[in-house]
Amino acid sequence: MAAPKVAVVGAGVIGLSTALCITEMCPSCSVTVLSDQFSPNTTSDVAAGMLIPHTYPGTPIHVQKQWFKETFAYLFAISNSPEASEAGIHLVSGWQVFKNTPEEELPFWSDVVLGFRPMSEAELQKFPQHRFGQAFTTLKCDCPPYLLWLEKRLKATGVQMYTRKVADLWELHSEYNVIVNCAGIGAHQLVGDEKLFPVRGQVLKVHAPWVKNFIRDGDGLTYIYPGIHRVTLGGTREKESWSLSPDPGTTKDIFDRCCSLEPSLRGAQDIKVKVGLRPSRRCVRLQREVLSQGGVKFPVVHNYGHGAGGFSVQMGTAKEAARLVGECIAALPGSSSRAKL
Ligand code: FAD
Repeated sequence: MAAPKVAVVGAGVIGLSTALCITEMCPSCSVTVLSDQFSPNTTSDVAAGMLIPHTYPGTPIHVQKQWFKETFAYLFAISNSPEASEAGIHLVSGWQVFKNTPEEELPFWSDVVLGFRPMSEAELQKFPQHRFGQAFTTLKCDCPPYLLWLEKRLKATGVQMYTRKVADLWELHSEYNVIVNCAGIGAHQLVGDEKLFPVRGQVLKVHAPWVKNFIRDGDGLTYIYPGIHRVTLGGTREKESWSLSPDPGTTKDIFDRCCSLEPSLRGAQDIKVKVGLRPSRRCVRLQREVLSQGGVKFPVVHNYGHGAGGFSVQMGTAKEAARLVGECIAALPGSSSRAKL
């Protein structure tokens, strides 16, 4: 059998990281990325890209922890290489602060990030409205540079990329052997997933190079995440809102909330407003499915629904999706590729 042809639908962080893992884990495959939008026009471009996990209520914690660990280890190695600045990946230290002591003082990811510890009384003096806090160092992906770096790596390994909107996965049947669905919120329409819903997020990207530490209010709604070039100020979480238009009242509210945590932000300049729709679900849909029509079978691997945490678990879920692609290839009729996976 000729090299199995795999199409990845979607070019956000999940599609690109999944395509990369497929090239690494299934080197005999020919991989193509098909997407109606590429960077800088995806939800992934809007994200802050911080590695602080979001919790998926429908996924066991040990699985979420494994995804986070794999992602952290992968990106930590890049942050420690000459590629770091081009890839937009860097370590960042800071504080997560709470008005009241949280029930769970040690989140499940506390031993994956670096140097996790309770804040000292002296540190807490910076946040007079907060009574408890956690200090740690984590990683951040600066989003458009990171996505461009992934695209460059994929092209260097021979992956083809085409702009194409896929209306129905069956339209790819004559061209590809296996499809990987990484369409983010687009999966709502593409595969009619009613369990997938948008959680709208508005953020500001500002110039404030003196802000070096991240600050996150424990409820996750207000945050200040410094990147290599710009600081991301957030945010909002609006369930079921499909609007991509920035709201000026929300912009002012975000700015005021962030200034109350870090007053020096009053001097921030060049404020740009971005909106993205988090592809939210009780659990990430990470599974094989065999589509069937008139006796014809077509294998699909789904990898979407990462909600507020796609950057934090990207490599863990991508590796699992690539493993499932390997299973699909091994099951293809007349497959001689089993040994080469
Ligand atoms: P997307 O980036 O939306 O990519 C989907 C791709 O599929 C796009 O290329 C799209 O064009 C393509 N597509 C869709 N439908 C079709 C179709 N029918 N045919 C062809 N192509 C199609 N996560 C973190 O871990 N840390 C953070 O700090 C963080 N901050 C965030 C801040 C905000 C304001 C928002 C909105 C999100 C944030 N997230 C964060 C979450 C993160 O952005 C998402 O989990 C992640 O971007 C999802 O990636 P994705 O590739 O699944 O989706």
